[in-house]
Amino acid sequence: MDVTSDDEIRQISVGKPHVVILGAGASYAACPQGDKNGRMLPLMNNLIEIIGIEDIVAKAGLCFEAQNFEDIYACIHQDSGLIEIRDELEHQVYRYFREMELPEHPTIYDHLVMSLRDKDLIATFNWDPFLVQAIRRNSHRFKLPRVLFLHGNVEVGYCAEGHMMGNNGGSCSHCGSQLEPTRLLYPITQKNYQLDQFISRQWAMLADALKHAFMVTIFGYGAPTSDARAIELLKGAWGSTDERCMEQFEIIDIRDELVLRETWSPFIHTHHYRVHPNFYGSWIANHPRRTGEAYLNQFIEAMFIENNPLPKEAGFAELWEWYSRLKKIEDIENT
Ligand SMILES: [Zn+2]
Repeated sequence: MDVTSDDEIRQISVGKPHVVILGAGASYAACPQGDKNGRMLPLMNNLIEIIGIEDIVAKAGLCFEAQNFEDIYACIHQDSGLIEIRDELEHQVYRYFREMELPEHPTIYDHLVMSLRDKDLIATFNWDPFLVQAIRRNSHRFKLPRVLFLHGNVEVGYCAEGHMMGNNGGSCSHCGSQLEPTRLLYPITQKNYQLDQFISRQWAMLADALKHAFMVTIFGYGAPTSDARAIELLKGAWGSTDERCMEQFEIIDIRDELVLRETWSPFIHTHHYRVHPNFYGSWIANHPRRTGEAYLNQFIEAMFIENNPLPKEAGFAELWEWYSRLKKIEDIENT
């Protein structure tokens, strides 16, 4: 072994970001039995049922071929006579997600946020509050990655003057105005990210981070064909595969590798990608807070490196203790 886990922990040499993009599969993997109160995470194809809004949808009096919520919402959105129904739908969806809570024990979200440093970035497509809740309950211990919300989020508000984003319900630290809740729903037929001030800023910041990233991890994002605009934006920010010959692309997804390779082909440069069906097999879970250093050791220096897997069964006290060994080195480096 050229680089042991102790060697890895002692290294802090990378300033470039590791960019992680989360889709619904990540939230589902974090709470397979539902949230703290057993509330299930809805997906687009069962959202109406899980949230229990069949009655509201029926009131629209439209006949839908698909069961996909985004398609149905787009139809209702088109019809100016259905504004009241649209408002009620938006309200119910928002309320359902807002009431979700992470289970009390550490989850994949806690492990994920603690395994990255503050130079790194997590961008999520998810509306649920899990990422924000994980940041909130671990940020008093560790410096955590920056976060972006590509489709809005129930826990997040933003200043209409563009000063900041923060907790939904809070106020702007610059101008004092009440932060506005972010919108969750866009009709997919005209999904136009530029039109929403908050969302367009989130995408611009993601594009900037992607330009500098040494590694990108896509976790549970299905890249639905309905969201072609999102893929286009990601592709534009990532650049052509020729330009990105050395960076690593990692996919955490339960789907078949051939399907994933097809979906993500514009981002994959020959051998520089890996697929893991499970978060705990990922680069992040096996090189916590040192993903860049491990990348340098293995892919640039061509050394044999040891894994340093995070203790996934540990409770919070033990988990924080385990990560504080890594933090100690970071604190020394920062002084
Ligand atoms: Zn402000």
